[in-house]
Amino acid sequence: MLDKTSLDEKPLALVVDDDLSLRLSMCAALAKAGFATVEAENGREAVEIFQSDAPDIILLDVVMPEMDGFATCSAIRSMPTGKYTQILMVTGLDDTESIERAFEAGANDFVAKPINWTMLGHRGKYMLRAGRAMEELNKSKRRLAKTQELALLGNWEIDLINNSFHCSPEAGRLLGLTKVHRQISYNDFLASVAIQEQDRVKEKIDSAVKFKRPFSINYRVILPDGAQRHILNRCEIFFNENGVEEMMLGAVQDVTQLKNAEEEIRLLAFYDSLTGLANRTLFMDRLGHEIASANRHGKIFALLFLDLDQFKRINDSFGHHIGDLLLKNVSETLQKCIRKSDSATGPVLASDSDTLIARLGGDEFIILLSDIQKPENAAIVARKIIQAIPTVYVLEGHEISVTTSIGISIFPVDGKDMELLLKNADSAMYHAKEKGRNNYQFYKNSLNDAVSERYSLEQGMRNALKRDEFVLYYQPQIELATRRIVGAEALIRWLHPQKGMIPPDKFIPIAEETGLIIDINKWVIQTACRQNEQWRQADLKPIRIAVNLSGYQLASQNIIQIIQEALADADLDSSNLEIEITENVFMQETKDTIGILKQMKDLKLRIALDDFGTGYSSLSYLTTFPVDVIKIDRSFVMGCTMLENSRVIIKAIIAMGHSLGSKIVAEGIETEEQFELIKGYGADEGQGYLFSPPVNHIEFARLLAQECLL
Ligand code: C2E
Ligand code: CA
Ligand code: CA
Repeated sequence: MLDKTSLDEKPLALVVDDDLSLRLSMCAALAKAGFATVEAENGREAVEIFQSDAPDIILLDVVMPEMDGFATCSAIRSMPTGKYTQILMVTGLDDTESIERAFEAGANDFVAKPINWTMLGHRGKYMLRAGRAMEELNKSKRRLAKTQELALLGNWEIDLINNSFHCSPEAGRLLGLTKVHRQISYNDFLASVAIQEQDRVKEKIDSAVKFKRPFSINYRVILPDGAQRHILNRCEIFFNENGVEEMMLGAVQDVTQLKNAEEEIRLLAFYDSLTGLANRTLFMDRLGHEIASANRHGKIFALLFLDLDQFKRINDSFGHHIGDLLLKNVSETLQKCIRKSDSATGPVLASDSDTLIARLGGDEFIILLSDIQKPENAAIVARKIIQAIPTVYVLEGHEISVTTSIGISIFPVDGKDMELLLKNADSAMYHAKEKGRNNYQFYKNSLNDAVSERYSLEQGMRNALKRDEFVLYYQPQIELATRRIVGAEALIRWLHPQKGMIPPDKFIPIAEETGLIIDINKWVIQTACRQNEQWRQADLKPIRIAVNLSGYQLASQNIIQIIQEALADADLDSSNLEIEITENVFMQETKDTIGILKQMKDLKLRIALDDFGTGYSSLSYLTTFPVDVIKIDRSFVMGCTMLENSRVIIKAIIAMGHSLGSKIVAEGIETEEQFELIKGYGADEGQGYLFSPPVNHIEFARLLAQECLL
């Protein structure tokens, strides 16, 4: 038996009194009640015996020489084993002061002299039972604390009746509240939660208190040393005997190890251990989601299937170790290529989270580019990857050169499900290999053609300015009343050395996307001004020239300075230059754009609103920012002899424009009938094949020499 108070052993009572006869009487009474006894005649002796014999109860006389009963009681209480021993003080009758002091010294009970000997034995037994219960309680408390420590658990409670909060020291330790020395408050408890998660946790607990509902929540706490711990906090409601909610009993548990293990499993299950890229499982999962989301929102996305060229040869000649290193290096290159912060892919990829790179195995990689808006954007990324892969990787002293072939499939045109998209990207990749490797191919040939056409235009355009391949054509603008030339619209053409004359609609949009438009705008303004000056020097009638400025990033183009310099160089007055802009420039209505237009006005340039009626056709901006000229789009002019609608619109534009003080120019007049009608409605000027198509500067000079165009 482990317990010393087992059946065959009697409980031990220590009797402390300096009076021998009293001691003996007490011992006798206690022996009768089943106690073994041991005696001490003073406090010092009592303390010694307490240490050696560990009695279950102590009867302690108050008045003793040397060390009195109070001092003895305090001494025993201050010993580690003396906290719960039952101590009965023997006081004088009615000595309330001693009774009070005994209580303060830590005594459990008192008995007054003269002593009732029969009762004393029973008193001892009652005390013994109370002592054991205390000891049990104490033990179970300590056991609980220890098991909580082992289980990385701590408990807390909220008293729902008086709203008080209590938290065990173990919980405090788990939450990193080691610096809090007072009782841990609810605020301490919340403050331990990682800042980003505090609101969520507080809301959860508050609502659980409000509705008296159990909850379970995971969150992180930040420890004083900065490390973080994952906590699982669960709580149940405790009801009293009447079924009323009385308490919320909660437990916090340190689940960091579990979380870490989960994370490790996730990494193993979804990521490629060599490169850290997504593996096939994760990729297929994302692809499934991407298809669903693209379907829902009507968007397109691309798969880029990459295969390193002749990887097997590298593996065979340099060994797998170098092969692995190469794969790692390539995967880093790929990651750099699709970073959003990179300006080359900035406008192509909306955000980093829109792409996923996976390694499918071996030297096969796949990239998912979501929401690319148009297939060309996938080509931009593919081209960038091909360019980014270095000509040689130096790996442990070996110079390894590698290239990659890329196949592209586009959702939904190349397939509406995972299998087909992958299969088609794969076959496009083989097509790229057949084409001599180190290139990319779309699954659809028409896309390859479109993209390569566009790409060659883009490359060609970079040199076109230097090689002087652009020319301006001029289309006369005539006064309708007199048919005399009053101006010209400058229209750009590209005289391509192989492809011949390319119209602006074919290359201006690409120039806008690549930023080349900035240089083109500058060239157009300078050339138009210079031309106008040359005509004047040839003694031709002075006219004004209109140039088209596309709205693309107008504010960032330094355009005002360019205009001022061009006018000064050609020694021209600003009234000889007109700027045509389309409605969408107005609609951008950024502070910067409005600022540019104001500066143009200040320079006394004429501002014309081009293609009016085809865009937003919202007129409100014209009241806040009146333009000098409104150009009625040729689609209305074209329809005006046949369609009542077109006539109504033309009349409305003219009336409204005039009331705002603008001049009206009608574009695209091709027939006499159109001319008469529009002149009749009161338009001021016109432009169109009826008078002349856009012509080169020599031809235009000839037209200008005539009095009027008939
Ligand atoms: P736009 O500003 O509306 O230019 C008028 C277009 O209509 C010109 O086409 C012109 O050739 C054509 N046109 C003129 N009269 C008639 C007619 O009677 N019937 C028909 N069917 N068409 C007529 P173009 O030169 O091909 O220019 C097309 C567009 O390209 C222009 O439309 C303009 O938006 C843009 N563009 C032209 N030159 C430049 C330039 O230097 N810079 C910029 N940013 N854009 C330009
Ligand atoms: Ca125009
Ligand atoms: Ca126009």
